[in-house]
Amino acid sequence: MSSIIQLLPDHVANQIAAGEVVQRPASVVKELLENAVDAKATDIKLILKDAGKSLIQVIDNGVGMSVTDSRLCFERHATSKIRQAEDLFSLHTKGFRGEALASIAAIAHVEMKTKQDQEELGIHIVVEGSKFVSQEPAVLPKGTSFAVKNLFFNIPARRNFLKSETVEQRHIVDEFQRVAMAHPTIHFTMYHNGSEMFNLPISNYRQRIVNIFSGKTNEKLVPVSEETEIVSLQGFVGKPEFAKKNRGEQFFFVNNRFIKSGYLHHAVMAAYEGLLKDGAQPSYFLYLDVPPHTIDINIHPTKTEIKFDDEHSLYAILRSSIKHSLGQFNVAPVLDFERDPNLDTPYDYQGKNAEYPTIQVDSNFNPFAETKSSKSFSSSSSYKKSEIAQPSWESLYVGLKQNTQEIAEMTFENEEAVTSSLFEENDIEQEIKRTYQIHKKYIVSPIKSGMVIINQKRAHERVLYEEFLTNMTVQQASSQRLLFPLELFFSPNEIELVRELQLSLENLGFIFDAFAESSIVISGLPITITESKASIVLDDLLTDLQNGIVTDSFSQNDTIAKSMCKSLAVRTGTYLTEKEQENLVHNLFACKEPNVSPFQKPTFITMSVEDLDKKFSI
Ligand code: ADP
Ligand code: MG
Repeated sequence: MSSIIQLLPDHVANQIAAGEVVQRPASVVKELLENAVDAKATDIKLILKDAGKSLIQVIDNGVGMSVTDSRLCFERHATSKIRQAEDLFSLHTKGFRGEALASIAAIAHVEMKTKQDQEELGIHIVVEGSKFVSQEPAVLPKGTSFAVKNLFFNIPARRNFLKSETVEQRHIVDEFQRVAMAHPTIHFTMYHNGSEMFNLPISNYRQRIVNIFSGKTNEKLVPVSEETEIVSLQGFVGKPEFAKKNRGEQFFFVNNRFIKSGYLHHAVMAAYEGLLKDGAQPSYFLYLDVPPHTIDINIHPTKTEIKFDDEHSLYAILRSSIKHSLGQFNVAPVLDFERDPNLDTPYDYQGKNAEYPTIQVDSNFNPFAETKSSKSFSSSSSYKKSEIAQPSWESLYVGLKQNTQEIAEMTFENEEAVTSSLFEENDIEQEIKRTYQIHKKYIVSPIKSGMVIINQKRAHERVLYEEFLTNMTVQQASSQRLLFPLELFFSPNEIELVRELQLSLENLGFIFDAFAESSIVISGLPITITESKASIVLDDLLTDLQNGIVTDSFSQNDTIAKSMCKSLAVRTGTYLTEKEQENLVHNLFACKEPNVSPFQKPTFITMSVEDLDKKFSI
């Protein structure tokens, strides 16, 4: 049989490669801007017509190219930026694949003018669909100008696929802003259809961000700065009250390259935990500098995703530095800032006061005497979740004596206190009994000012969450012994994880008899967990821990409490007896933060008699 394999002609190969590099006009903008940055330009102009469909031109005052290079740069895999594979691990340039110009020239009309500083004359080259059309010397200023016209002229399918001008222009602006934000020491200008859209003078990071996102941005920013061996971090995060509905102002730059990272985003969000309204997105502009050999930029053709050697540490550093900054600028609860990894529970503060002078602990704080929320609850019908200070959960335990008996008494007293301020003082007994369950989802109860409507699932989550945290940090829970030990099967990894959590879980009431290679034998369970639920709860917990990415033990307790309260809370659709309803109401208002679930969702709303009156007056 005759042979049928052939090597593709270069222009076809380039056209195929172009599909990867150039998806839309914005991709060309990104590549050309990055080349100009790599050429050490201090002034870069971007000129567009029809959202880049007719013209994308980038003019720089960088080093320019020699005659030979100006031909070679259009070849595939032609680059001045790396010479050998090892260079991939010490990259200091934006480009290195040597593909962009070859790809762009394969699918557009390109006119390039370039001159090196020391040369008398420059060179003017025209390439159309990978073919050299002309090349001649020209009188030019120092630097390079690339004009890309009629993008996708030879791939009509691609051209028709482009979105409206508004959409394409938006993509271009995004790319322009990303490059400009990463390089404040370069003067950038952008023109579209003859008018100036951006003019960004040489400045610093903060000023550059403000110039791009308007003057108001300045007051919203909180600086972040941290130097460690593996990363030097600087930049800004937005104050929580300025958080937005969308993710438009979230930027990571690694070695001055814009990147996307769900993982690092998670770290930032973790730092804001408890400070944001549901679904709100904080702004952030974070610049990470890491040794080039600790990252791999090569995993994505457009290089917006990179791989870090030590993601876990980056996560922790990012989260704690941001928390620290938010704290310093008085926008987060004070106790959250401690970054000593040895610190496992807030009780350690008590013995270490002298070593941590910046921490403000109110040692007289009695969590159960806290009636602020219940007071405002009874006195004000317009009570809003956000009006109540939400200190971090750990303050709950500060100053709390470890004497179980005392705690039990305090809890008891507190329930009384809360109850009496919350419900009609006369006739407490009768009032409390009046709880009604609606749609197996809400509990409605009359209060002095009107009525309260409680979300049963969220309320129960809050109650369990605080209970579990107490168990893990102050007061060990009691267990129910099982008649027959329970053997649960897990993967070796999971078993390892359970072992790491053993102490916390034992404090919650688990009794472990044995850890085998693929199973765990349990002979006692927390009272809240039935035998049939044990494996589900542990499964959920392991999944949450594996996805939750939280490694230090301080947060691990929090993660365990969150995961378990989620698994164990009464579901919507569960019928509750009157006694159960009452208990839930009691327990909820005995909590430190009764107003929100552990996931920051409201647990109840109130409706005043006036509100009801108003509804009837229509
Ligand atoms: P890469 O940037 O990956 O090296 P490109 O195809 O983008 O690949 O560019 C090829 C080469 O052309 C670059 O390595 C550089 O030497 C040269 N070059 C491209 N743009 C410019 C520019 N604006 N100024 C000077 N040299 C440039
Ligand atoms: Mg390039």
